[in-house]
Amino acid sequence: MKIRFTEPYITGDEEIYIKDVLKRGRLAGDGFYTKEVNKFIQDRFNTPKALMMTSGSTALDAALIILDIQEGDEVILPSFTFVSTANSVILRGAKCIFVEVDEFLNLDLDAVENKITEKTKLVMPVHYASTSCDMDRLMELSEKYGYFVVEDAAQAVNAKYKDRFLGTIGHIGCYSFHETKNITCGEGGALLINTEDKLLQERAEIVREKGTNRSKFFRGEIDKYSWVDMGSSYLPSDILSAFLLAQFNHLDEIQELRKEPYLYYQKNLKHLEEKGVLQLPKTPDYNQINYHIFYLLLNTEEERNQLMDYLKDNGINAVFHYLPLHDSTKGHSLGYKNGDLPFTESISSRLLRLPLYSGLSIEETKFIVNKINRYFGL
Ligand SMILES: *Cc1c(COP(=O)(O)O)cnc(C)c1O
Repeated sequence: MKIRFTEPYITGDEEIYIKDVLKRGRLAGDGFYTKEVNKFIQDRFNTPKALMMTSGSTALDAALIILDIQEGDEVILPSFTFVSTANSVILRGAKCIFVEVDEFLNLDLDAVENKITEKTKLVMPVHYASTSCDMDRLMELSEKYGYFVVEDAAQAVNAKYKDRFLGTIGHIGCYSFHETKNITCGEGGALLINTEDKLLQERAEIVREKGTNRSKFFRGEIDKYSWVDMGSSYLPSDILSAFLLAQFNHLDEIQELRKEPYLYYQKNLKHLEEKGVLQLPKTPDYNQINYHIFYLLLNTEEERNQLMDYLKDNGINAVFHYLPLHDSTKGHSLGYKNGDLPFTESISSRLLRLPLYSGLSIEETKFIVNKINRYFGL
């Protein structure tokens, strides 16, 4: 048996919707399907303004432009994240203040509070595996110290903190629809403006439309559009939005299909955790996850690498991530070094992600679990 690490799930409706785009004869962004997707996100996840973007990365980039993050500003973020979170900061010329994660692999809020200065303009929680830090506390601190919150909710579409959806709690939230995420259109993202601040919402439209007030023009609110601010082209083609809407219309089904293998892993690997040879993912009580990632934490880096090799030899593609950003080539050039964030470094060296996707069958999951048990001689 050969088992891939991830595989996109196709509902069958994508083709129908894309054919409809071709029939409508408008391929650029902000056509019928882009508007439908924006509306779907607003209604389903409950946020005043959602905008389709070309990727989760460009959503993050645009978020920091919209909030005017600039040189001299400090942005607090975890080192344990994907490169795009940090790129959005350095692209603005601002400073990355990397901090530790907690046992749930989310921003450690005590570490955040320790790093707040007058220059702190923004904190970026990353909802790892669709779990989150205590968002109430983060937002209270944001009021107290006057910083913005941009949620990197790339992995957290349809996951919740208490009774609210992740991505809709901070001032701005960013989703990703990359092929590896639960809901996908190959490459895509969304920007969620979660405040009723009309100026901020308007600026988001402008930045996304190459710095012009074209969106206002199309709504008939002004009689000509012009260059009013900085921006770029962040609109995906309506073809991609059509693909995405097909996926969103099957959101529950797609998530249910990931839940099965996730729960199977959890149930059938529990005894290894009880024996103390590894740890399973932890979820805070306040989160409702979307089953994006299932990981194992081994006791040492060597054991992680050995298990990974063993699974590879058995046709199972399990992978590790993230290499801590503070301990990367770029991180070192920003003044960080190995040893600065020991917990993050330890997690990164011991974590192993198991295959998890909507098309992963229970037979395949069973096969993986059996191999892991065999590796530990059980
Ligand atoms: C996937 C991901 C991104 C980037 O999303 P893209 O759509 O691939 O640009 C950013 N942050 C995190 C945490 C991610 O998992």
